[in-house]
This record gives sequence, C-alpha cells and structure tokens, in this order.
Amino acid sequence: MNFQLSEEHVMIRKMVRDFATNEVAPTAAERDEEERFDREMFDHMGELGLTGIPWPEEYGGIGSDYLAYCIAVEELSRVDASAGVVLSAHTSLAGWPVYTFGTEEQKQKYLRPMAEGKKIGAYGLTEPASGSDAGAMKTSAREDGDHYVLNGSKVFITNGGIADIYIVFAVTDPESKHKGTTAFIVEKDFEGFSVGKKEKKLGIRSSPTTEIIFDNCRVPKENILGELGQGFKIAMQTLDGGRNGIAAQAVGIAQGALDASVAYAKDREQFGKPIVANQGVSFKLADMATSIEASRLLTYQAAWLETNKLPYSKESAMAKLMAGDTAMKVTVEAVQVFGGYGYTKDYPVERFMRDAKITQIYEGTQEIQRLVISRMVTK
Ligand SMILES: Cc1cc2nc3c(=O)[nH]c(=O)nc-3n(C[C@H](O)[C@H](O)[C@H](O)COP(=O)(O)OP(=O)(O)OC[C@H]3O[C@@H](n4cnc5c(N)ncnc54)[C@H](O)[C@@H]3O)c2cc1C
Repeated sequence: MNFQLSEEHVMIRKMVRDFATNEVAPTAAERDEEERFDREMFDHMGELGLTGIPWPEEYGGIGSDYLAYCIAVEELSRVDASAGVVLSAHTSLAGWPVYTFGTEEQKQKYLRPMAEGKKIGAYGLTEPASGSDAGAMKTSAREDGDHYVLNGSKVFITNGGIADIYIVFAVTDPESKHKGTTAFIVEKDFEGFSVGKKEKKLGIRSSPTTEIIFDNCRVPKENILGELGQGFKIAMQTLDGGRNGIAAQAVGIAQGALDASVAYAKDREQFGKPIVANQGVSFKLADMATSIEASRLLTYQAAWLETNKLPYSKESAMAKLMAGDTAMKVTVEAVQVFGGYGYTKDYPVERFMRDAKITQIYEGTQEIQRLVISRMVTK
C-alpha cells in the first residue's frame, strides 16, 4: 500500500493551490456577498486544464484521473466552496455521464467543449416533489417524430443559467417505473427550454442554483444519452462519482477553516498569552485535524477506486457522509476558536460554516448516504 501522492498529483495540487490563492481567494467574500459567478475565472480554469482533468486528451481533457480531480476541487474549496462546486457539477455531473454513456459524436460535440472549459455543464434530476425519491420525477418526454418533447421543471440546479449543456432526466414510459426514465442532453438554446427562479441561499452563494423549465422543449433523438429507459441507472451512477467531488469539497472547506483557526489561535492573545497555549483550544485544533485527515483518506480511497475501475458506490457514500459531517463540525468549531470575530464577515470562517452545510444535503442527504451504505453492508 502506498499513501504517497504521485508527482503528477503533487504538481496538480500545487498548480491549483497557486491559482486558488492568487485568483480565487481575493474575491471570494465579495462574490459571496454579491451572489456573483465569475465567468472569467471559470475561463481561466479552462485554460489551466482544470475543467477536463479526468478526460482523455482526445476529448479535450488533460488525461489525468479522478484523484487529481478531487484534489483540484479540494484546493478550490479550501478558499471558496462555490468555485469547488461549479467545477464539481461541471465535471462529475455533466462530463462524467457523457464520457461514460455518450456516443463518439456526443463526446466530441459536448464533452470536448466542456473539458476545454468553453462550455459549462449542469445536471437536472431534482424536481419540486421529488428530491431524495428521485424515481418519483414527473418531467415527461413524449416521442414526436425524430424528437422527444419534454415538459416539466427541475429545481436546485447547480450551474443553472450559466450552463450551456444540461443532462436532464425525464419519464419516457410511465408504466415502467425506474426503467421508464431516459437521460437527455439539452442545450440551453433548444426551443422550449428556459431558466426559472434563482435561489437565494445560505451558502455557496457565488455558485448559481436555479430552476430549469421545459415547455414543449424539443430534443432531437440523437441527444438521448445512453439507451431509452436507462436514465435512472445513469442518474444514480453519476451521483456515485459526484459524491467523491462533494466529499473533496467538504475536505477543502474543513481544511480552509482549520488553517484559518491555527493562524488565528497563534496570533490572538488573551490572559497574556496566545489562545493556542490553552489545551481547550489546541485540543480542538487536534480533533479538527484528525477528522479532516480521516475524511481525506476516505475521499482519496474512493477516487482511487473509481480511477482503477473498482466498485466504489459504498466508499463514495462513506466519504461524502464522513467528510460532510466533518466539514460542518470543523467549521462550527472554527467560528468558536475565533470567538466574536468568527461571527463577523471580517474573517472567512462564517462563510466556511455557511458553505459546509450544503455538503450534508446535496448529491444525496446524509440520511440517503446511510441508506446506501446500510443496504450494502447488510446485503
Ligand atoms: C444548493 C443546492 C444545489 C443543488 N444542486 C443540484 C443539481 O445540480 N442537480 C440536481 O438534480 N439537484 C440538485 N440539488 C438538489 C439536492 O440534491 C436535493 O435537495 C437533495 O437530494 C434532497 O432532496 P430534497 O431537498 O427534496 O429533500 P427531501 O428529499 O424532501 O428530504 C427532506 C429530509 O427528509 C430526509 N429523508 C427523505 N427520505 C428519507 C428516507 N428514506 N430516510 C431518511 N430520511 C429521509 C432527508 O434526508 C432530508 O433530511 C441541489 C440542492 C441544493 C440546495
């Protein structure tokens, strides 16, 4: 067993850390306050190759792997969890299903521009009345000549409004339950597609989350992803990999909060000495660091399994469960270490705490991760 990162992984971490420190961190608080996505920053991620880390060069990627991708999401999230999730949804939720289930034409037409960062991807599964129970979706797709006509809406779509390409799931055969769902690649300019309400959120505020609406939206048959009736399977498998990205996001948020806490605890003096000299504070930092390292190991293991084409559904659910809970716990403690100042916007820990909460909710809530894990450990 080798726990050392390869030279390539170390290099990618350094490159992303430099980018995150110099170009993402300085405006993170301001973009959060203004709920503003920065397209130029995304374009720069594309130029650096970050938008296509795991995809082969023939599809516009840099030919690295899922571990490198997780490291990139972690490093971005260390300073700005919004930047982390924009990349994560783009890569795991939109790029992955096209890479895995797409035809050669679909990969060239859709994966390549996403990998190159010229187009942004999104994933539309959740509906107003179907969240955890995704199989209860209502959005319908009716055959009409060489097209399918989609009607319905999806909510809470990360990258909604900024994305060019949406992977959308709709019911093609209501009689066949899960086997009656099909995945479609929808372009933002397709007739009948529109973007609805933009959510005002607690955290990850510079990552747009919107409703998307299908009003007799015409999708050519060649844009079916995978096979007719394979949609539910594609949706679920996509989330397995997506959870590795969210686990990485959670590890990054927690690490950012720990780094800030260590620096503050060494600097802040009370009772004539730095607060870190109290074990009440330094033991807190020790516990935070330990939980983060355990979460990181689970996350990297899941990414390694995915890279090596080994089963990883259970491990990615465990990584997301552990890392999400760690991010929440660590960021709450970080605010505590900062005392009153932690409760203000003068320091980043309040933003980290707000951002951490979403990692316990999306791509399957913590309860749904437990459902996935318990089914696998008791079968
Ligand atoms: C900021 C943000 C971004 C998102 N991005 C996307 C996206 O890009 N694409 C997309 O398709 N969706 C996205 N989502 C949707 C997200 O995945 C769902 O919100 C999530 O899966 C939960 O669904 P729900 O909100 O309907 O909650 P519900 O399913 O209604 O759950 C409510 C509560 O009940 C619990 N619960 C439900 N069923 C069970 C059960 N069987 N056992 C135990 N507890 C249960 C849940 O854990 C939760 O605590 C996003 C959401 C947010 C907030």
